[in-house]
Amino acid sequence: MNSSLFDRALEKGARCERLTREEAFALAEAITPQRLHRLGEAALANRQTRFGDKASYVFNVQINPTNICGSGCTFCNYAASKNAPHAYVLTEAEIFDKIDRLSPTEVHIVGGLNQIWPYARNLELVRGLRQRFPDVHIKCYTAVEIEYFAKTSGLTESTVLDQLKAAGMDAMPGGGAEIFSERLYQKHWKNKTSPENWVRIHQMAHGKGIPTNATMLFGFGDTWTERIEHLLILRRAQEVTGGFAYFIPLPFQPGAGNFIAKGPTPLETLAVLAIARLVLDNLPHLKSYWPMTGLATGAAGLSWGADDMDGTISEERIAHLAGAATPVGLAREMMAETIRMAGFTPLERDGVFTFQGGAA
Ligand code: SF4
Repeated sequence: MNSSLFDRALEKGARCERLTREEAFALAEAITPQRLHRLGEAALANRQTRFGDKASYVFNVQINPTNICGSGCTFCNYAASKNAPHAYVLTEAEIFDKIDRLSPTEVHIVGGLNQIWPYARNLELVRGLRQRFPDVHIKCYTAVEIEYFAKTSGLTESTVLDQLKAAGMDAMPGGGAEIFSERLYQKHWKNKTSPENWVRIHQMAHGKGIPTNATMLFGFGDTWTERIEHLLILRRAQEVTGGFAYFIPLPFQPGAGNFIAKGPTPLETLAVLAIARLVLDNLPHLKSYWPMTGLATGAAGLSWGADDMDGTISEERIAHLAGAATPVGLAREMMAETIRMAGFTPLERDGVFTFQGGAA
């Protein structure tokens, strides 16, 4: 255990300075309870320098058009085959009605890979949403879906992104990255986007002026070395294109327990948040994603480096079909109150990742 390297990493991280690769790895070496709390302190100092006591959220709605997917990722509790009892398909009318009813600031669209909702239908959906709801922020389709749309439509990924942007796409979500590990990629999701292609598609989007988020799935057999490598890959990618807005660590949801018995503990989730805040000096925002961390750990994450709690996420399906025990949506007031009780000042933001003004 290298204490001086760990101490130096904490001091530099607390001051929002760039950590060397060795310092980044030292943060995750032998995490004892004492070290864990020092990590939290450094991450809190860092986020206070960046954001003071503000913590943001957005009034958003998740649209998951269908869970039918043939990609066969081993860890997925969300996907269904066409005839499975839990398979569902939404229609355009149902989606428009939901947006009309809830009037969210942001719509987040992701779904399974299938030909029931093929590329042309998704493109029309974005166009239809933009026509009906000109002010809504449309964050849609992971790099996995962009790659699939290109493969199945015969278009290039670049053309797919251009067409979606012209139709009304404002930003891309960060899902599908899983963890940048060739070992786990070959084992668990080799039918979909590789780590290299995920980064390449996001950088392509940045080049077209489309901001994106980034995620990391952890707690399903990954190592701390793989997690730190993931953060360093993102930091390097951000240096080139600068288009990542939020980093969102996603603790694995064990669901029925047939893949892995338990997901990460709350303290492990908080350690990942703190280390991410200290390593990703060039990525502006860090999200504590409450549907997968649980509301209490999500709120605690604001003291461990996070500055955002995502959103109200009315009727979220992916984390919940995977077994998340959190509510499927939170009222605006409940979100603001949760942030206040965690000791921060809640700010409702717009979809384009800027604060809307005074405390909610
Ligand atoms: S993780 Fe995504 S791509 Fe993989 S099986 Fe599930 S829905 Fe399909």
